[in-house]
Amino acid sequence: VDALLKTALQHPVLIWAGHPTHTHEQAYQLFQKLLCPAQGCGACITCLQILQRQHPSLVWHSPEKQYLVEHIDQLLAQLAFSLEPHQHRFMVLDRADTLTPATANRLLKSLEEPPPGYHFLLLTQAPQALLATIRSRGILHTWSTPTTPSDFAPYVALFTQPLPPHPTPILELLETMPLTERETMSALDDILEAWIARHRHELQAGTPNPATAQRIAQLLQLAEAPPMAGSAKLFWRNLYLQWDQAL
Ligand SMILES: [Zn+2]
Repeated sequence: VDALLKTALQHPVLIWAGHPTHTHEQAYQLFQKLLCPAQGCGACITCLQILQRQHPSLVWHSPEKQYLVEHIDQLLAQLAFSLEPHQHRFMVLDRADTLTPATANRLLKSLEEPPPGYHFLLLTQAPQALLATIRSRGILHTWSTPTTPSDFAPYVALFTQPLPPHPTPILELLETMPLTERETMSALDDILEAWIARHRHELQAGTPNPATAQRIAQLLQLAEAPPMAGSAKLFWRNLYLQWDQAL
């Protein structure tokens, strides 16, 4: 995420291609990294506002069918507020491939020279459908869709349900499907993604569970301390032991 964050701050126009579920998730993570005092704890008010699309530094534009001139005029009006020198504001344009030539033209000047502190993040599932004038203004990043179900599904399943009181299932899994250190990190990512999806779901349903946010924070912390060479097994055993204590 750090390299991405650097790119995001250096280039005023980013184009992210990929499945919406994935690009949205990545956008939340990027903004949390940028705006959360703890670089994305997943539990603070900033992190929640980002997930709920209510953070004032991020303005989401999601047209129902396609962009209309009114949308763009609204967006241009939002660019009129001048920001403090350290401030950043991101205009997220969902389904950017639905910009029509008329709306794209209206937007072009701002894409070429956004006011200081303003950034554009254009999300699309079909980058080839973007108008050339738009495409040429941005840095394109293509997100490959994560393999679903996860390659590490048994691990994800184990750590997204209440853990069994006896370590037998995790010990068996470590025997039948041992992971390398690198795979351990990928599996951890998949587990984290599953918890983030659950968190979003809870938020949308209006029933956020603090335990879910805590779980995400725990996983993020683990992701920062990858297992040392040869210690993947130990890593998973420790995770099993610490899992319930963390709550
Ligand atoms: Zn936070």
